[in-house]
This record gives sequence, structure tokens and C-alpha cells, in this order.
Amino acid sequence: MFITAHLASARKPADGPLTDPMGARAPRAADGAAAPAASTPAQRAARLGLVRDWDFLLHLPLRHVDETRVVPIAALDAGASGQVEGEIVDVQVTVRRRRQLLVRLRDGSGELLLRWVNFYASLQNQLVAGRRLRALGQVRGGLMGVEMVHPQVRVVDGVVPLPAHLTPVYPSAEGVSQLWLRRRIAKALDAGTLADHLPEALRRSLDLMELGAALRLLHRPPAGPDAAALGAQQEAAWRRLRFDELLAQQLALRQARARRRRDGAVALPGHGRLTAALLASLPFALTADQQTVWGEVAADLAGVAPMNRLLQGDVGSGKTIVAALAAARAIESGCQAALMAPTGILADQHFQRIAALLEPLGVRVAWLAGRGRESARRATLAEIASGAAQLVVGTHALIQDAVQFARLGLAIVDEQHRFGVQQRLALRQGHSTPHLLMLSATPIPRTLAMSYLSDLDVSVIATLPPGRQAVRTKLIAGDRRDAVLAAIRQEVAAGRQAYWVCPLVEENDEIEAMAAVRMVADTRALLPELRVGLLHGQMTAAEKRAAMDDFAARRTDVLVATTVVEVGIDVPNASLMVIEHAQRFGLATLHQLRGRVGRGAVQSTCVLLFDEPLSAQARARLRVLYESNDGFEIARCDLRLRGPGEFLGARQWGLPLLRVADLERDGHWLDTVRATADRLLAEDPATATATTERWFPGAAQFLGA
Ligand code: ADP
Ligand code: MG
Repeated sequence: MFITAHLASARKPADGPLTDPMGARAPRAADGAAAPAASTPAQRAARLGLVRDWDFLLHLPLRHVDETRVVPIAALDAGASGQVEGEIVDVQVTVRRRRQLLVRLRDGSGELLLRWVNFYASLQNQLVAGRRLRALGQVRGGLMGVEMVHPQVRVVDGVVPLPAHLTPVYPSAEGVSQLWLRRRIAKALDAGTLADHLPEALRRSLDLMELGAALRLLHRPPAGPDAAALGAQQEAAWRRLRFDELLAQQLALRQARARRRRDGAVALPGHGRLTAALLASLPFALTADQQTVWGEVAADLAGVAPMNRLLQGDVGSGKTIVAALAAARAIESGCQAALMAPTGILADQHFQRIAALLEPLGVRVAWLAGRGRESARRATLAEIASGAAQLVVGTHALIQDAVQFARLGLAIVDEQHRFGVQQRLALRQGHSTPHLLMLSATPIPRTLAMSYLSDLDVSVIATLPPGRQAVRTKLIAGDRRDAVLAAIRQEVAAGRQAYWVCPLVEENDEIEAMAAVRMVADTRALLPELRVGLLHGQMTAAEKRAAMDDFAARRTDVLVATTVVEVGIDVPNASLMVIEHAQRFGLATLHQLRGRVGRGAVQSTCVLLFDEPLSAQARARLRVLYESNDGFEIARCDLRLRGPGEFLGARQWGLPLLRVADLERDGHWLDTVRATADRLLAEDPATATATTERWFPGAAQFLGA
């Protein structure tokens, strides 16, 4: 998908003599994983999800450059962009502060200076005095007359005709040049696969441009003197594509729901003895919210329409017990339940906590993660297949092909936004659809909710269990370590424990682990009287479990950790959370980390260590955390400070990504889009499926459309 594309450096020459001097705006890199080198541009494009004609057609330009006209140098306007053609009269490399390449270009009307800072030898080799050069770029007044910095240039020895259309500039990617993309997209445009799928009358009533016309206008806009008219037309073209994408998304959601209804689930009414025993064994009573939510879940489970419910509640609100009750209900109804968590350490925590709740009641709980002894794994798989394992807790390992449940009645997905939509759907493959319960501490933004939730039921735990005291948050400059050490000593002297999180973003896991290892040595030296444990992502599952067990059993006083402790860890005796370099983190992460303390009755503290100088933006963000303990409020502020799109994008929600539509801007269309989706599904299901597939390839396979 093009959203994951990394841009090639703007100055890196593309194949052929074209360069892109402006550097197209980079879409945000999502996965960031460096893929291995592939040999051809087509293979490299495929790695970004650009395979079919439609993938290329929907790879839309960021902007256009006008290469259709050449103007005399004397007619260039400083501040505007323009294209000229002339003879190279002089080439120089100067070293002022940096190495620069200076080229003087002359036509019949005057002279222009072209300037490059940091250039490739391949560029310099092409620029030889006497050659004819076409140069396009932003014009500015310089010390030596008008100049262009990093223009796009092309050697035009002989006659090179001017293009008839504006030139699109695409979101590009490592190893796939603009030129290659242009040619490939032009091929797709000419392949004639642009039939519109919206019924003509409907299209007209919505005042939407024809799909093929919209795509042609964006990929191959006509050159013309009237830029304003073209701009208006292109806006209409974008509008059509945004509508199309929203329509495809609604269709996908509707098809998913239709499939679930069609397949049906096994009703899980339960005899109530196991759930009652579980409730009786708890050292506390459910809060009113927990009771309400459990009632909603139980009602869903009792029916044959597969549950598709999102359980939202802030960190520490007590979602786990609701999940355990749901699992118990499935089990007392004669089915199996599965609980999938995004990380091994979180899955392990769930396993230990839920096993502690259910095993005394005679439930067989199994554990399945990626790594582990092969013989043990095989034994677990056999237990799952025979139905002997009544509840299975694990990571992504649960959705591997080798895992065959005897009768999976309920799938629970924790921190569901960390899974892709396909991973969540995979858990429901099988003869009948299992009921699905998703847990999330991350509030869903309103506009996403409007589209996404048309397919989801939502339960909310709004209040924390009683007796909790809000965590006190302190902002401390990073150099005041002695204050932090004193705070740790004090907590430990009072019989409590502390986390010290030393997260490093922008670095990889390994470096993060090294930092944690260094940190633990420092901490041991500074606090020789305390027992300091270590937890990071590079440790083996057994080491992680040992570190967590030691901390939970108070064999260690301080746990130095990376962000692996971010989600789900539950040690109520821990009352101090210290976070280093707090300004580097998203508010959601900080709120999650802070949520690791304040889980018992004692007053807890979260110390945010920040590095100075702190930007105004960073200060404003940390203040939000200082002032609020409410995850929903924090999410709202985060949205305001960072703008939509950045925060809680579709990716976080595991939604098929939106490429051109923006729910904030285009949300007003959703009612129309829904009505259109219903109509299309009723009148022309094949076209509906084709529409979904254009935008979300492979979705149909998962949606069973
Ligand atoms: P979440 O997963 O929503 O972050 P947990 O389910 O881990 O929260 O619960 C946080 C803590 O609160 C746990 O220690 C749990 O035992 C405790 N807890 C849950 N429900 C209640 C309740 N009704 N009364 C008191 N404590 C509760
Ligand atoms: Mg939890």
C-alpha cells in the first residue's frame, strides 16, 4: 500500500536524466521495516502493494509540475516556478561552507544560475559546457542574478518535444523512480479498465465526476493557461475518489457483517455455574459498569448472531475480569475460548492471571506463544485440537494454520488496535464464526467511530474500581536524578515498588535493550541497597517471565524496563513509575505507562523526566498528562495538539487504511455513502465486491464476499 512508501531522497537521481528537485512530501512510513533488496522496479513496487492496474491507478499524484512550456530566461519571475531551455556556458564546483555545483545557463534572452548543494557525480557528469539543458524549478533572486536551487534538469541535445500534459509527481519509494511510475501508471490508464461502477443516475444525483475522467484528470491533467479552472476540476476529481474510497470501506464493513450473519455462531447460553463460581471467588464485587458490560456480553453470547463487540475502558478499569467471565461462559456452554494478546509478555500476564482465576475452578488453560520447545508446542496443539484445552491464551501464534480448535466459541482480542484487521478476522475462520470480544484502552475518535462502529457494538467501562486514588504526576527535568533516586528509596522503604522505564524511540529493539542493560547497571550502582530487576524485549520468554515473577513476588524492588511494560502489566504493589525522556513519547503511550501504577489502594506517583530544552509543543503535551488522568480526555487533547490523521489513524485501529478520504473532512458524507453502499449491495453485489477489491485488495477473501 502506498502509504507505507518511503521516499527516495529528493536529490537522488532517478533513472534517466530526470530529477525531482522538490522532494515529494513523504507519506508517513508505517511499518518502517527495511525489506530486502529486490531486483526489478516491478518487484520493488510490488513490495509496496503496487501490483494490479488498479493499485497503480489509485497511486495518486501529490502534485503536478508544468513541463509543457518553456519561457525565456528574461521572463522568469522570482518566487514563481518556470521552465527554461538554454546552453550550458559554465560549470563550477565551489567549496564555500559546503560543496556546491554551479551551472550557468544562457538562452537568447539572458542568463540563469543553477545551484546544487550535495550533488551526485552522475549529475555533474551530465552537465558539460556546450550542452543544451532544460531546467525547471522555483526561481529566486540571488546575489548573482536569478537562480534556481536544485532544479529538475534534462539534457536535450537534439529535439526533445515538450509533453502535452502536466507531469504528475507521485509518492515515491526507494528504488522505484518517478519515470518508471509514470510509465506504469500511463499503461494502466490506457489499459481501458476504467468503467464506472456507480449507476449513472446515482452518480449524477450526487454530482460526482465519472471515475475514469477523474483518474485521467489527476494522472494526466491537460496543460492549459487556466490554472484556476484546472484546480476546480481536479478538486472535483479528488472528491469523486474520496467518495469512492469511503464507499469501498462501507461496502467492506457491510459485507463483513453480512457474512457473520450468514455464517452464524454457536449460541453460548451457559448453565451459569462456572461464571457464578468465578464471581464468588473474586475478592471484590464487580463495579456497576462491569456488571452492565458483562450483561451486554452475556446477552450477545446467548444468541446465534456472532458477537462483534468492542469493550472500551481506561487502563486499570477492570476489563480482564469481564474477559474471564466471557471465557467462563463459553466454557460452561461446552465450547473453547481463545485470548490473543499483541505481545508475549502481555499474553503471559493474561495467562497467569486468568489461570489463577479459572484453574482452581477446574478449567484447563493452555498457553501458546511463538517460541518454546517443539514437543511442548505439539502437545498444546493436540490439546487444542481435542478440546481438552478449554481456554487458550497466546500471541499471534494462535492464528497460525497449525492451530485447529475442536470447537472455538469465543475469541477475545486484547489491545485489538495492535492487530491488523486480517489478523482479527483470521481468528474467526472455521465452520462457524466464533463470537468476538475486543478489548481496548484506547478510545476511538468520533469520526472513526462513525464509520467503523457501523459494524461494531461497543461497551464502555467508564469508572475505575472503587478505592483507587488518581496517580499523581510530576514533571521533573532529567538532570535532577537525585530527586528521583530519593523518591525510589522512599517508596521502597514504605514496602512498595517502582518501575523505571528508559525507553528510546527511533532506535531499534537491540539498542533499546542495551540502554536498559546499561541503565540497570547504573541503577544498581546508585541504589546498592535495593534489588533491581531488568525487563526488555530482547530477553527470552523465560527470562521475561522470571523478571516479571520476581517483581510481582517482591523479590525485586525496582524494575528497569523498556516500553515492553506499556500494556497490561499488573503489579498492584508498584506505586512509582519513572519515565525517562518523556517528551519523546506519544501521550497514549505515556498514559498507558502511567496506568501501570495506581492499581492498588495506595497513592501512586508517575514521574515524567524530560530533557531540556523542551519545545512549546512538547511542553503543552506533557501538561495534558499532568492535568488529566482520563484516557479519553487525553486522547481528545492529543488529537487537538497533533491534528487528526497523525493520532489514532486508521492503522492503529486496524482498519483498512484510507488513502485519500479523511474522516474528519469527509465525515459529512457518511450517511450518503452508507445509503449508496446499501443500494449497490442490493442491486449489484458483483460491482460492490469489485469496488471493495479496488481499494482493499484481498479484503473479499476475508470478508467472504
Ligand atoms: P484493565 O485490563 O482494564 O487495564 P485490569 O482488568 O487489569 O484492568 O484490572 C486492573 C486491576 O483492578 C486488577 O488488579 C484487578 O484485579 C482490579 N479490579 C478489577 N475489577 C475490580 C473491582 N470491581 N474492584 C476492585 N478491583 C478490581
Ligand atoms: Mg488489561
